[in-house]
Amino acid sequence: MKHGFGRRDFLKLAGMVPLGLLAPPLLKTIGASQLMQGERKNVLVILFDSFSAYDISLYGYGRETTPNLDRLAKRANVYYNHFSGGNYTTPGTASLLTMSHPWSHRAFRFGAEVRDSYAAKSIFHAFDDYHRMGYTHNPLANTLLQQFQRDIDEYVPMESLFISNDGLIRKIFSGDEDIATVSWSRDMKRSEYGYSYSLFLNHLYEEYQQRKLASYKNLYPNGLPNTNGGNFYALEEGIDWLREHVTDLPQPFFAYVHYHPPHFPYKPRIEFNNIFLKDNFKPLDKPQDEFFSEGNAYETLSNARAYYNEFILNVDSEFGRLFDTLESTGVLENSWVVLTSDHGEMQERGISGHVTPTLYQPIVRVPLMIFEPGQQTGREIHTPTAAVDLMTTMLHVTGHKIPDWSEGAILPPYTPQILQKENAVYTVQARRNNVELPLTEATIIQVLGNYKLIYYLGYEQLGSLGERYQLFDIKSDPEELTDLSATKKETAAELLNMLKSKLREVNEPFHG
Ligand SMILES: [Zn+2]
Repeated sequence: MKHGFGRRDFLKLAGMVPLGLLAPPLLKTIGASQLMQGERKNVLVILFDSFSAYDISLYGYGRETTPNLDRLAKRANVYYNHFSGGNYTTPGTASLLTMSHPWSHRAFRFGAEVRDSYAAKSIFHAFDDYHRMGYTHNPLANTLLQQFQRDIDEYVPMESLFISNDGLIRKIFSGDEDIATVSWSRDMKRSEYGYSYSLFLNHLYEEYQQRKLASYKNLYPNGLPNTNGGNFYALEEGIDWLREHVTDLPQPFFAYVHYHPPHFPYKPRIEFNNIFLKDNFKPLDKPQDEFFSEGNAYETLSNARAYYNEFILNVDSEFGRLFDTLESTGVLENSWVVLTSDHGEMQERGISGHVTPTLYQPIVRVPLMIFEPGQQTGREIHTPTAAVDLMTTMLHVTGHKIPDWSEGAILPPYTPQILQKENAVYTVQARRNNVELPLTEATIIQVLGNYKLIYYLGYEQLGSLGERYQLFDIKSDPEELTDLSATKKETAAELLNMLKSKLREVNEPFHG
């Protein structure tokens, strides 16, 4: 930290405290530890997409994938049983940002927006007295940020952190920026408009682009990470951007930064490449899922997992680098920093990825670390917690009113005594269900205490059964190897009743 107290520091602080309270002698004594809960600290949410708690060494995984998270856990609240709102980006991100379940916000189809009435029900809206910034690499999450844009003071376009962006064009045509910008939108975006004004410019751009991309070749021997749409990026550039920008944000700020890694395609930088591919780690060989296996063999899944784990190691290293900057610049002292994900990823039971009707732990259990301003000792929280709780909690700890649309609870250890009760945690997959109609083809998990019920409804693979359910004790059987639905019939029936009654309740508004 800097020793002097400059004008910029004063301005930053000035943004945090009501003006009447500001007096120079007081400023010297405001340290993070002295600021009471409820004062206007910044909130910085860092999300890494498809980041499964299952594959994280901090959570007990057998490979050392997260040395930095292990190191930083000693200064964080680490949530060991945190669940995403959905199984892929759209529902997972929407639940996080609206503090509501997919059956309420209805963003459960691929690329969907939340329903109109939820467009003003985002966390950005709730932090209306803060400077709000939002960025994502992920096009599906970007659709949501665009929908919430009226409440985001600083919406950073997705393309800003892609290697193929307008900025490069401006560099090529420097000195003639106006023409360059027009040329870019008219000539280069062939795929967007379906034609090109100028084949010449187009070829020039492609050649430049190729040379530019070639310069990354040594760093990324398996190719550059991308979002499956030619949107190439390098995570370290996105992290550098935030490291530089975070100290310039007007305070107090609420910033949401959603990075694409370790999402497929798994393309780690060279330092992390092939670290795990030939180690002696043997993933547990689980039986193929009876209804939804994609038929992937154990070897195929093990290889995919090794690449995925290398990408996680890359993510961990970049988060460590970001964290160290937050610390050295003093941001950590006056900010809540959150690390989480929108959903997990699985490489087992014949299934690879996360777009599947199943909701096994690797898909729904995600990391959550909350770093309190200035926190120096770690806490472990084992209670099951949900994505809808997270932003609800950030509002609570920064002294904001929790809006009536929030379906979340306040997370421990911040839960007021009076609110301490056991809530069920839900995750929903309904990728093919009509958003206007009740859920009739869906998977829902309900976690209550140590029990996790998985309920499948209406999939054609289930044939005449029409439904399926599994019951696991995720404490004694975290790998979900023993389905208790046949041996603990009473418990299963009770939990199933509870889930079905919940489903009837949430379906009610959508019956014709
Ligand atoms: Zn995602």
